Amino acid sequence: MYVVCREHLELAIEQFLDEYEDAPDVVDLEDTHFASWDPPKQCERCAKAGQYLVV
Ligand SMILES: [Zn+2]
Repeated sequence: MYVVCREHLELAIEQFLDEYEDAPDVVDLEDTHFASWDPPKQCERCAKAGQYLVV
């Protein structure tokens, strides 16, 4: 599971495919709120705000 900005979304999808050999679901964090979980605020590959959850 990765939280990334728009710039790093493609990289994260590739990494997911490499690791799990399956296509991830991509969730736009702006549209989604979790009842019991706060996603990280920051992209895990740079200092920008995390925008997508790749799971
Ligand atoms: Zn990023």
